[in-house]
Amino acid sequence: MDEPHLRQWSGEKAGRHRQLKVMSQTEHPATERQVVKICHVCKGLRVYYLFSACGHRVVRCEDCGLVFLNPQPSDAELARIYDLNHFLGGGSAASREMVSNLRQATAKLQLSEIRHYHGSVGGRLLEIGCGEGDLLVSAETAGWHVTGIEQSPSACERARSRLKNGEVLCGELPTAGLAADQFDLCVVSDVFAYVRSPSDFFQEIHWVLKPGGTLFITTSSLDSWPARAMRHKWMEFKAEQLVYFDHQTIQTALLGSGFREIIVQAGWKVRSFDYIKLRFERFSLPMITSVLNIIARIVPKKLQSQHHRVVASGMMVFSRKTELRPLPVLSVIVPAYNEAKTFALLMDGLLRKDIPSLQMEIIVVESNSTDGTRGAALKYQDHARVKLILEDQPRGKGHAVRTGLKAATGDFVLIQDADLEYDLEDYDALLEPLLTGRAAFVLGSRHGGRNVWKMRQFTGQHGLSLFVNLGHWFFSTLINVMFFQRLRDPFTMFKVFRRDCLYALEFECNRFDFDFELLIKLIRKGYRPVELPVNYRSRSFKEGKKVRMFRDPLTWLKALARLRFSKIDPLQVVGQRQRAEPVGKR
Ligand SMILES: [Zn+2]
Repeated sequence: MDEPHLRQWSGEKAGRHRQLKVMSQTEHPATERQVVKICHVCKGLRVYYLFSACGHRVVRCEDCGLVFLNPQPSDAELARIYDLNHFLGGGSAASREMVSNLRQATAKLQLSEIRHYHGSVGGRLLEIGCGEGDLLVSAETAGWHVTGIEQSPSACERARSRLKNGEVLCGELPTAGLAADQFDLCVVSDVFAYVRSPSDFFQEIHWVLKPGGTLFITTSSLDSWPARAMRHKWMEFKAEQLVYFDHQTIQTALLGSGFREIIVQAGWKVRSFDYIKLRFERFSLPMITSVLNIIARIVPKKLQSQHHRVVASGMMVFSRKTELRPLPVLSVIVPAYNEAKTFALLMDGLLRKDIPSLQMEIIVVESNSTDGTRGAALKYQDHARVKLILEDQPRGKGHAVRTGLKAATGDFVLIQDADLEYDLEDYDALLEPLLTGRAAFVLGSRHGGRNVWKMRQFTGQHGLSLFVNLGHWFFSTLINVMFFQRLRDPFTMFKVFRRDCLYALEFECNRFDFDFELLIKLIRKGYRPVELPVNYRSRSFKEGKKVRMFRDPLTWLKALARLRFSKIDPLQVVGQRQRAEPVGKR
């Protein structure tokens, strides 16, 4: 049905000259620039112009935030760029050896990080765009059964000559004839940003990986410090780089293609001063080059060739293949303890609720209430959309929510208190940024435009109102300063987020402090909450409000300090879990 057309991609390896034939809807004349009609990631239609780089328009998708070139250069333009022998190893024999040594050192570093995530070594590894096989050689030595795919015939030859048993296929993934579900691990280094259609490419990889198989990507990141510092002058903005990911958009792309359990880390590479000097000579940035030349004259030669781990413009992304769902699922978690007055009202409202293009599961965690809530909850236990979990005793709201999270299977999670302080009509607006991929984490803010001081007003309890509002102001400011945020209402209980955000985070709080722990750990893992106004009716303490948020400021201060300075290392957490219980046995 469809005709193959040329897709071009490039890697930071020898043999950057690659052209990939893929299945696509239309054939383009080689000299025609290709207009991107729908966003590569979210399929949205609305894009706006940002700036021009190297004579090409850089645009951003209004829905998911992906940055890409539009129109893309023609096949002829890309071929010309690749023909300008611009890859780094192309110089003298000495500089080629230096670059190859650095690549091997980087490959070892990456393989050790992959081992933490994947858990074991020794299965089948596929590297797409393997160049001269620097990573394949290290992987084979470590015990992997390796396969590489490479477009450049000369790089293929070189890679084959370096491997003992591994194979290297000359060509491209879609036409390599690989069967489904074959590989335990797929490595794709510095290739994704150069493909014409990243979503097609993700699907091709999803096809060849085994269920539960690991995908490891490195790619340049708009969140990296060079991108932030240099803005539109960032060196990665160039005609042949067609797509520019950041932490958010790469995750949206992966999730949309059936990958989960995503961890994004800064892209560590092994570099030397010599290499950096060589790279800047190629990019002809006169000021930086002259500074580097001065340093080269002062610093001893031996130090200039030393290897160092550096964070460059890139990111490393780990993920696992899961099954693709026809519709996303929302898990609504309802912790219920002594809420007999409102519980049935809430549940009936939830079961009536219908959100287009979304399925819903409701997880009720009932904590052995004494006011009849348990009886009310049991009435819903046979409902197809309800999972009822009965706790034998109340251990705090945080504990109940954590129990609910363990049982959740949805793509998104919404925590709904059973007290009707929040309005079910707000769901659609809160979910919208998650469904488009614009945000991973949304907070329902309780004072859209109103004075923050007056957020809580308890009738006849002016002293209490003032105290609670002062506490709210003080702790909000403290959180914003400590975690570099600009949140108006960080204490809202109304949180909606992608369940995948929780991956490799560990929680310990059991009471109301869990809300707080959840917020801060998500922020520290790199998710920036988006605040949207919601309808809110505050209950007074007399009406049964159980929260004692600002009654013990010292405990809160201690909790804040602990959360600020405790170590958040998702990869290490996954590594520990893998050692305790390998993925294959779960
Ligand atoms: Zn988009």
